[in-house]
Amino acid sequence: MSLTRDDMLRELELLPAWRLREIPAAEAGAAVEAPAMESQAVATADVSVETIPDAVPTVTLGQERRAAIMQMDWQDLRECVSHCRSCSLSQTRTQTVFGVGDEHAEWLFVGEAPGAEEDRQGEPFVGAAGKLLDNMLAAIALQRGKNVYIANVLKCRPPENRDPHGEEVARCDPFLKRQVELIKPKLIVALGKFAALSLLGGEQSIAAMRGKLHDYHGVPVVVTYHPAYLLRNLPDKAKAWEDLCFARATMRDLQSAAAAASS
Ligand code: URA
Repeated sequence: MSLTRDDMLRELELLPAWRLREIPAAEAGAAVEAPAMESQAVATADVSVETIPDAVPTVTLGQERRAAIMQMDWQDLRECVSHCRSCSLSQTRTQTVFGVGDEHAEWLFVGEAPGAEEDRQGEPFVGAAGKLLDNMLAAIALQRGKNVYIANVLKCRPPENRDPHGEEVARCDPFLKRQVELIKPKLIVALGKFAALSLLGGEQSIAAMRGKLHDYHGVPVVVTYHPAYLLRNLPDKAKAWEDLCFARATMRDLQSAAAAASS
């Protein structure tokens, strides 16, 4: 049986096609040996086995899902995110929060996850922390939407603003990875420890990560405090200012290097 592209995306849970239901782990069966990260009751297509000729173990499904996302253009990616049912956050969100800004921006700012206001409006950083982020951007002569893209690690709001779970990050991570590939930013600014560790891995404190250039799949990364943290810890705004100056100097170096390479 030959599958169309949409059939394939539906089977990978990347397009809506079937009524979704939760399958209890026991019912999901021994054939599905999921790694811990994906072992949560994952929304699964309610479809008769005849329509899926080869049973695909979850681990393979995860890899194929990732590979399919890595082929997507902006339109497909937006649609895929807006229909995503890959983790339980889809049950509590009002809407997904894809990201906003210049799709060819040199600057990419990455936060943690949408909060209540972002969940309502469908745009990242529109609440109190967002106002501070806009001021931080203005401090280095940047403006939302102009050579700047803003996204989050998670595209759905965790209920009660709880910390994101590992499997939620694992499920959402390919979306941010693809956004980075499409934008091709010169520099990523990770806002807060959660965003920094999601991008960079490891266990370091934010103090240890600040003031250094890190790497996310070949894109330089600068780490600073999350605006929501700064609203609660005003004295650390001075450190965030240092980080922004470091980011601006880094960007100038990157721009000069790119200009030299193309001349
Ligand atoms: N905090 C984040 O990390 N992202 C948002 O979009 C809003 C608040």
